Amino acid sequence: MNLVLLGPPGAGKGTQAEILRDRLSLEHLSTGDILRSEMKKETELGKKAKEYVESGKLVPDKIIVGMIAERLANISPDKKGFLLDGFPRTVAQAEELDKILDDMGKKLDAVLYLRVSWEVVKERLTGRLICRGCGAIYHKKNKPPKKDMVCDICGEELYQRSDDNEIVIKNRFDVYNEQTAPLIEYYKERSLLKEINSEVSAEDTYTQIISVLGL
Ligand code: AMP
Repeated sequence: MNLVLLGPPGAGKGTQAEILRDRLSLEHLSTGDILRSEMKKETELGKKAKEYVESGKLVPDKIIVGMIAERLANISPDKKGFLLDGFPRTVAQAEELDKILDDMGKKLDAVLYLRVSWEVVKERLTGRLICRGCGAIYHKKNKPPKKDMVCDICGEELYQRSDDNEIVIKNRFDVYNEQTAPLIEYYKERSLLKEINSEVSAEDTYTQIISVLGL
């Protein structure tokens, strides 16, 4: 099964991706995670992306498309498909993705559109904490770790993303509305869009996803 997770920052794409990846044995490709890892390693790609990521702007399509094409071509054969998280983010990226998949003889099965309001996004992202070790996601108020700033699962330190501050969050939300929201129509026209109410708990969001996928 080949899926795309679409929705504003803070919609719960990362959280749902973790669950779906394990449950359906999918390759999880998050462009945000890849960029952050390249930035940490200070690679050429990381250096190019840094300024955009830190201000909440989109990294140019050319960089992103090449990066994702390479990963799609290298998915291990024992995976049952892929899960794109944070890509595509513009109509141009969606068109490029169609071409890449066409060339590979693959296609998308569904685009899961996680719908949330600005108020929910702001509340979720200003409190979001992430584990440096395993990437598990917590929230200061709604899902605090048992021990302050320490991951319950692997014991590594938790951190707050540098772009999870109110000014950059607003910028990312505006960029989403202008550049990514047109993808809702793009995938609706192709009968791939599945709309999910993502203002509820992660468990309830997941239940809706399983239901729309007919699993
Ligand atoms: P995310 O982790 O998905 O919230 O992405 C964090 C940041 O990485 C975004 O604010 C962008 O600067 C950059 N980014 C991630 N995915 C893309 C993409 N598909 N196209 C352009 N920029 C991206």
